[in-house]
Amino acid sequence: MTVAAKTKRNIFLVWLLLVPAGMWFTYQTFPPHFSGKWVDLLAFLILTSVVAFMPMVINNTPIFLIQWVSLATFLSFGLFVEMVFAQAAVILLLLRLRIPNEQIFRVPLNLIMFFIVSFVSGIVYYSLGGQTGPSLINDPHSLWLAGVYAVVSYLLNQVIVSFNLYFIYKSKGSYFGKDFVVETVTTFITLPLGFVLYMFYNHVDLLALVIVAFPFASLSIIFKLYYASEKINAYLQKAAEIGHQMAERLEVNGVIDLFIQKLSEMLPVDYAYIFEVVNEDELQLIRRIQDGDHELPLNIPKLKKNEGISGFVWLKEKAHLYATGKQWKRYSKGNIPADAESILAVPIRKNKKVIGVVLLASKRKRAYEKTQLMIVDILCSYFAVAMENAKHYEVTKSQSERCALTKLYNYRYFEKLLTEEFDKLYQFERKVLSLIILDIDHFKAVNDTYGHQSGNEILCELAARLNSLIDSRGTVARYGGEEFVVLLPDVDKEEAYQMAEMIRQSIANWPFTLQQTLEFKQHQIKITASMGVATAPEDAEEPLALVRHADRALYVGAKRAGRNRVAEYSSC
Ligand code: GH3
Ligand code: MG
Ligand code: MG
Repeated sequence: MTVAAKTKRNIFLVWLLLVPAGMWFTYQTFPPHFSGKWVDLLAFLILTSVVAFMPMVINNTPIFLIQWVSLATFLSFGLFVEMVFAQAAVILLLLRLRIPNEQIFRVPLNLIMFFIVSFVSGIVYYSLGGQTGPSLINDPHSLWLAGVYAVVSYLLNQVIVSFNLYFIYKSKGSYFGKDFVVETVTTFITLPLGFVLYMFYNHVDLLALVIVAFPFASLSIIFKLYYASEKINAYLQKAAEIGHQMAERLEVNGVIDLFIQKLSEMLPVDYAYIFEVVNEDELQLIRRIQDGDHELPLNIPKLKKNEGISGFVWLKEKAHLYATGKQWKRYSKGNIPADAESILAVPIRKNKKVIGVVLLASKRKRAYEKTQLMIVDILCSYFAVAMENAKHYEVTKSQSERCALTKLYNYRYFEKLLTEEFDKLYQFERKVLSLIILDIDHFKAVNDTYGHQSGNEILCELAARLNSLIDSRGTVARYGGEEFVVLLPDVDKEEAYQMAEMIRQSIANWPFTLQQTLEFKQHQIKITASMGVATAPEDAEEPLALVRHADRALYVGAKRAGRNRVAEYSSC
């Protein structure tokens, strides 16, 4: 909710023009009625301040339970005193809420609002024949009038609140929603206290304040507990739902994305960090988010236990909540932006062991509550389980796609990829697709001479060489035994031939190192390889044909022609 600078200026102006003049008018027309009882006035002012200083915060909206005090003040001392107290209460309440500088206009705005409420309901009361200091017990009519006063002032207050929500904040949401009902109910439950306070005050003077303070304090506590439990229930339900959604995600990144997205939806989050414990003794950043969905690089050094806020949370194995920057800045390692104020940092636990830390920060002070901390704690356990499942899935998936010896993709993966690439070719997303098949020459002899283990070492080194030579230009897979394939999307036959030739030379020219042979400790041997190249669509129009033709080029063009050479497929 942003408010234009011009509107803010106008609000100050209206306050300046309206409130002092209106107060003066009230003082003249309805002079205050307290005949020198300054101590009583002070006591009422203190009560007003105490109540104003302890608003009930429900769904982030503070509820002002001041009306019953206003009612007693109004009936006892008249409109002017009530008005002055209401202005004081507003200033105190806003001080308590510590509004940021750019929202300072809310002070005059609320002062105007409360002035109008006081003024209009007071005038209504007086014009209906109401008086200051009525005897409510002996005169039922005055009791009725006081009731009208209370209702009018409450309704006016609500009308003005919705008016300024609509016109000043241009908020579209309906004001008469659940908050309105909650506020109405709580206000009318406390109103009888106002009557009681007034009547006791007439009989026992200031002792009345003490008598009434107890029921009010208990009512406040009951309300707080009731709304807190309602809120927790709603949060718990939401947390369980998010837990299920996270469990459905199969990939680690998907789980992290969803976790951050949901946290940002539930809580005010300007910055989010997720750390994972690695090597048992370090926290590594695995995600950093700003403003909801903007992903930042992970260039923050790893944290040791007790290093920075996250390291501290890890050490203590306990969630921490900071309301302002002052409380945490001296512990920070400087990775959290300077404009952050509130921080909520929670350890991620799995089987009672901390496996990570999530840290949320907001630019607002006091942005997080204890209940939210508890919910984030619960979400973290769902997150830990979902992460473990996703990791498990990714490992299983990669195992099923890769060859255990060389860690290259296996034949199964290659077949799937080949079909996908042909689909792209059919849909004209790709122009050409080349395939190189490689077979090591006389590999049986290598095994026979140096042992099967040495043969394996060569296969591994060759896999690494192929990977680094091809890099991102294509995909290398182990086709079987000592045969490899390289699939090259958008690489034409000429280029594929050049690449195969480069591979051939780098195998033939650079010896392979054997760590452990039957006879020697370290040994270098030279090997060669033969290759066949075929390209779709010119050589083949379907996947199996491409493989068959590359294979044919390998055996006919390269092996039979003497090995250590590259051959392209030709149909003739
Ligand atoms: P050429 O291809 O030049 O005709 O001769 P070659 O000796 O390489 O041919 P052949 O296909 O007859 O033999 C392939 C050998 O590769 C047989 C087998 O011992 C070896 N081989 C296959 N898979 C592996 C493996 O995983 N590890 C090791 N060490 N050897 C393997
Ligand atoms: Mg072979
Ligand atoms: Mg061979």
